[in-house]
Amino acid sequence: MFNLNNILRENIKNLTPYSSARDEFQGEASVYLDANENAFGSPLDEPYNRYPDPLQYNVKKRLSEIKGVPVRNIFLGNGSDEAIDILFRSFCNPGVDNVILVPPTYGMYEVSANINDIKTKKVSLTEEFQLNLEGIAEEIDQNTKLIFICSPNNPTGNSINRDDVETLLNNFDGIVVVDEAYINFSRQKTFIQELTEYSNLVVLQTLSKAWGLAGLRVGMAFASEEIIEVMNKVKPPYNINESSQQLALKALANVEQVNNWIKETLAQRDKLVLSLKDLDFVLDIYPSDANFILVKTTDPKGIYNFLVQKGIIVRDRSKIDLCEGSLRITVGTPAENEILIDTLKNFK
Ligand code: PMP
Repeated sequence: MFNLNNILRENIKNLTPYSSARDEFQGEASVYLDANENAFGSPLDEPYNRYPDPLQYNVKKRLSEIKGVPVRNIFLGNGSDEAIDILFRSFCNPGVDNVILVPPTYGMYEVSANINDIKTKKVSLTEEFQLNLEGIAEEIDQNTKLIFICSPNNPTGNSINRDDVETLLNNFDGIVVVDEAYINFSRQKTFIQELTEYSNLVVLQTLSKAWGLAGLRVGMAFASEEIIEVMNKVKPPYNINESSQQLALKALANVEQVNNWIKETLAQRDKLVLSLKDLDFVLDIYPSDANFILVKTTDPKGIYNFLVQKGIIVRDRSKIDLCEGSLRITVGTPAENEILIDTLKNFK
């Protein structure tokens, strides 16, 4: 049975979190002399002389409306990369605990584990890029705290079978992290709706992909109130700056525009797949539920270098196990995709 107290990192169990001026007094006042800010103003037009809301209430309120999740179940990070780091710092004892990764998958899980001195146990995806549940079960021990599942998966692009993720949620006593950075492009449903069902589920999403806000650095974690409380205790006090909060709020009014971009991206992805299929150095194109495609080729390095010379950058993923020969190509604008295909036609 999952019990949050059993998986909390020892030093976090009794942590007294930093209490900022804005934590201690949350009402409205006319004179603020509590936070050693510059009382005269900021050199910019906005009130940047003031510290931002540490718990980003307004942004969370809007996200809560969009996602159908109460504010208390939302954590915001400086990108979802920060949420990943906070999970390690909240739940994994350095030098003692381990996490399970299912490569090929997003690289930051391993880097973040290494930074935090947490051992990683790797159980490769199958040839179909699905979970090896038996292999995972064999690797789980009493110090396994987190399992990271990326769905749709980066760099392979496919979604992970929902039933398999639920099997993990039902049988693992630690936390299953489902990273849905690319969920807006997917045919699959989000796991957010399962939060009421599973107390050991953390869903990660981000404003960096479909929302077109990679530069703002705003990522989300959705989880039980208890898990979110721990993450808030561990995060730096003002991890989302004032301008990112304001701009995120403004952007979150544009659901329609984002939905149009998603439709256009999916149409472009299908078109790109058809054009790539015609090239004789393309061996395989893996089915994608994301805004990128993994393309197996006869000469990944040659193609990569050729494209770089022409000013086009894709990602060479050919050194990664199970991705041999493959390039990862992000879907661009119609004009960019056309340039890519026209250029590739000249590769020999
Ligand atoms: N998860 C996955 C699967 C990603 O591909 C990325 C970005 N490459 C991230 C998380 C990090 O996103 P953010 O910009 O929110 O830190």
